[in-house]
Amino acid sequence: MHARRAPPDAHVHLHEFERKDVEEFVSSGMVLVAVSDDYESSLRTLDLRDSYPESIVACVGVHPWQVPEDGVPASTLEAVADLVRDADCVGEVGLDLKFVPKTFSAQVPVLRRLAEEAARLGKPLNVHAAGAWREALDLLLEVGRVSAIFHWYTGPEELLPLLRERGYLVTVNPALRVQRKLREIAAKLPEELILLESDGPYDYRGLKLTPRMIPELLEELARLRGTPPDALLTTVWKNFTRVFPRYSVEPL
Ligand SMILES: [Zn+2]
Repeated sequence: MHARRAPPDAHVHLHEFERKDVEEFVSSGMVLVAVSDDYESSLRTLDLRDSYPESIVACVGVHPWQVPEDGVPASTLEAVADLVRDADCVGEVGLDLKFVPKTFSAQVPVLRRLAEEAARLGKPLNVHAAGAWREALDLLLEVGRVSAIFHWYTGPEELLPLLRERGYLVTVNPALRVQRKLREIAAKLPEELILLESDGPYDYRGLKLTPRMIPELLEELARLRGTPPDALLTTVWKNFTRVFPRYSVEPL
């Protein structure tokens, strides 16, 4: 059984942490959605999930930052697509016009192929869309029936009604503390969109992101939105189990 007081971390690169850290997160009762960056890390993520199936949700994918300018070789892309059957989710996948605009046209077929595989097998997507929120959303709408979590959402406010209508979710990151754009949008998110994430072990402007920050993030976001933390915790779990029903829990 999970300790349901802690909210889940809906986007974390667990394969980059030391094994002892992973053990600590798991033994604290957290549920963690572990994303991957490429084929090799996808295998490591699946191994971690097999060690802690009650606590770790495994996503396999190719991160847009790992897409070379001349494209991901078809054999590699198909090898990752083959792993989707064994995974719980597909990610980190997406489009990025902010940090790696030069490879954008090579990113598109990778997201499309893996999103189609996710749709075919009924698995959700864990999406990176920095500077390409609209482009990623349009592509997913074309793919059709697939659920998706847009991670670290700092996209435009006008996309929120469409995200809500499609049942998509977004994550809020501990960068809330220092990133004005994130604070502004996090205050306005419809509650049925909200999940929390660490994106650990990424270092954002001196913030060493880790799942250990999630309980405090819940408090900060609750303060920002003028909501009691317990109510936000219930909302986050409700949203989470919509995408990952095997984690459905008794009400707190
Ligand atoms: Zn990430």
